[in-house]
Amino acid sequence: MRDALGREIDYLRVSVTDRCNLRCRYCMPHGATLVSHADILRYEELLRLCRIAASLGVTKFKVTGGEPLARRDCVEFMGQLKRLPGVEQVTLTTNGLLLGEQVDALRDAGVDGVNVSLDTLEDACYAQITGAKSGDSRRVFAAAQACAEAGIPVKLNAVLLPETLSGVVSLVEAANTLPADVRFIERMPIGPAGATAQVTVIEALCRLRAHWGDLAPTRERRGNGPAHYYRSAALRARIGVIDAVSHGFCSACNRIRLTSTGELKPCLCYEDGTDLRQILRSGATDGALREAMAACIAQKPPHHCFGEEAAATERRGMNEIGG
Ligand code: SAM
Ligand code: SF4
Repeated sequence: MRDALGREIDYLRVSVTDRCNLRCRYCMPHGATLVSHADILRYEELLRLCRIAASLGVTKFKVTGGEPLARRDCVEFMGQLKRLPGVEQVTLTTNGLLLGEQVDALRDAGVDGVNVSLDTLEDACYAQITGAKSGDSRRVFAAAQACAEAGIPVKLNAVLLPETLSGVVSLVEAANTLPADVRFIERMPIGPAGATAQVTVIEALCRLRAHWGDLAPTRERRGNGPAHYYRSAALRARIGVIDAVSHGFCSACNRIRLTSTGELKPCLCYEDGTDLRQILRSGATDGALREAMAACIAQKPPHHCFGEEAAATERRGMNEIGG
């Protein structure tokens, strides 16, 4: 369906948990303020909401978290989601630590793609950013490689930080062997992230252009998201940049978010949302839930306010929202 500004909303990010086995500095450095299990939507509740979202024209679903693969039976849930009427695409965003053991199951479930978050291949730096142990960056990369070999399209997501800038070229070189696109993401001032220094995609592109002199923008469409892509004749993969903070892409925003506690969020930047769990658990009909979702989509704000941090009202971390 279209929102009040005429934007086609066809993409839902579904957070299945707020828990995570990492402690990324820009997301949940001190762990989550855990909500009780009873407040997290059960898979059958999530499937019901996704089915209703599909009836409103949402065709693409991203399963996220917290760490989605840390929730038991997540891959089975994704398979069920993929089989719902109207669902065209189901993809996963994961930190990759538990991915290696799930590759066959993901392929069998019909998952259409996996985004693996890997900010750097420099192991000590990766451990410092995420709280992972030594060797984990290689383990994550190996899991991404296993996915690509199993025929599942893979992208690497890298949040830009001052200490990862020196590793952007080697990350792209490694990803190109799979091949997997790498998307460099500006850190957004959500939750504890505000305390870390900001690096723009321009800084990353300068480093990359110094290495691949012919790097040029391409109009290729390579996903559902806001990334702009660049290509070089020397690369099979593409380099994407997500400049949410320095530029913004709200006029073309196609997405809404469902938190693991069942709140439908029309914009990342603001705390406003619709408590679908309360409506669902009060015995509402599908029609009432559909109406509540449609009203939430209709009220989607025109743009985020990351440029003026004081205006942002969202206080939760990305692990609660799903990125
Ligand atoms: N745990 C999974 C992962 O890391 O891919 C899924 C959830 S995580 C919240 C989803 C995405 O949000 C990841 O790619 C992560 O790097 C990104 N992210 C988290 N905090 C962020 C922030 N403050 N700014 C930009 N991206 C962020
Ligand atoms: Fe966990 Fe993902 Fe947040 Fe890192 S970004 S702490 S892996 S939820």
